[in-house]
Amino acid sequence: MKYDIVIVGAGIVGLATAYRISQKNPRLSLCILEKENTVAAHQTGHNSGVIHSGIYYKPGSLKALNCKKGYDELLVFAKEYGIKHDVCGKVIVATKEAERPLLDNIFKRGIANGMQGIRKISPKETKEIEPYVNAVESIWVPQTGIIDYVGMSKKLAELIEGQGHKIFFKHKVKSMTTKSDYSVVHTEGGDFEAKLVISCAGLYADKVTKMLEPQVDFHVLPFRGEYYEIVPNRQYLVKNLIYPVPNPNFPFLGVHFTRMAKGGVEAGPNAVLSYRREGYSRWDVHFGELFETLSYKGFRKIAAKYWREGLDEMYRSYSKSAFVRALQNLIPEIGEDDLVEGGSGVRAQACDSGGNLVDDFWFIENQYVINVCNAPSPAATACLAVGETVADKALKRF
Ligand SMILES: Cc1cc2nc3c(=O)[nH]c(=O)nc-3n(C[C@H](O)[C@H](O)[C@H](O)COP(=O)(O)OP(=O)(O)OC[C@H]3O[C@@H](n4cnc5c(N)ncnc54)[C@H](O)[C@@H]3O)c2cc1C
Repeated sequence: MKYDIVIVGAGIVGLATAYRISQKNPRLSLCILEKENTVAAHQTGHNSGVIHSGIYYKPGSLKALNCKKGYDELLVFAKEYGIKHDVCGKVIVATKEAERPLLDNIFKRGIANGMQGIRKISPKETKEIEPYVNAVESIWVPQTGIIDYVGMSKKLAELIEGQGHKIFFKHKVKSMTTKSDYSVVHTEGGDFEAKLVISCAGLYADKVTKMLEPQVDFHVLPFRGEYYEIVPNRQYLVKNLIYPVPNPNFPFLGVHFTRMAKGGVEAGPNAVLSYRREGYSRWDVHFGELFETLSYKGFRKIAAKYWREGLDEMYRSYSKSAFVRALQNLIPEIGEDDLVEGGSGVRAQACDSGGNLVDDFWFIENQYVINVCNAPSPAATACLAVGETVADKALKRF
């Protein structure tokens, strides 16, 4: 099977990339290889379903630029194709005096990122938006919304297939080799020849990257995010989206409340090291993958720096009452009985051997391949912009 372009991974980034390529150059032959039997089987199908506004990201970074552009494109796409969504706004809440300067930094970032309509609000104004929230000060972010990312992924797949391109499910990529001007992608379902491979492999981004670029030194750390769901008769405690002030040393936003596009309200996600890349339960262990993580130099440096925060997160994972205490900072009235265990997702976070968590989106390429090495949140929000960035890199070669 010979293609101009073979894309690895049918998460939202791989799908959006294929969609953008097929829009920009419909004559190119392309296919997607996916190891599962459906689209959005991993990060995309297990996320919080939030349309991020772009307030948090370093001005000028790929996250900031792609989130802004992708946000507008996402809303146009959702309206055109009837994807369930709601731009409901959110509050970011400082619950202690000590958090005010951090809240102010976020606000300044939002302004530097060109966001309109965000404003600092008092505890009284916060209560007008979210009556049960305990705040010393908040930021109102009107742009934030919620969306059905699985529905969006299915629509992208339909549009790609409508252009005559195929998604091969149950086709795990095992290895790749190169010939003079093409590569051969070896999968569980047979070999594919490609003039260009694009890897959008999420939690296995490092493994797939190293198939053709073994010298690239990074490791994907899997951080599981666990959710609770608020029982129906207490969902009135949350109108829309309520976020804490995040720890600036971490790339995660802290446990928050999210009204979901599919209905219901979730609380979470925390961020605990997962013992398996696709380990959705706290009892899931893959000894080989766990050993690789623990023995990676970069991980050991991160663990030495952040062991206390890591242990706190782990404690919150095993203790519901500790999890609830974190939520009570935002809504003092919420109790253990108001929450039942929900689902979970595992985030792919690239880490280098120096012990740095890669903060921004990150792509590397050579003659045969473009690798999306790091596409954490807000990559679902930004998927159409990220897909276009990768498509433009690819199309230069044809
Ligand atoms: C808990 C959680 C909450 C989040 N909340 C939000 C949010 O609210 N808003 C937001 O914008 N972002 C959020 N994110 C981030 C967002 O979900 C991800 O950035 C985005 O889904 C990444 O998409 P992807 O296509 O790169 O990865 P994935 O969705 O993980 O897709 C990668 C695909 O590659 C496939 N694959 C891997 N290896 C192979 C192989 N060898 N052969 C074939 N196929 C392979 C996998 O099976 C998978 O389907 C969240 C993430 C998590 C985990």
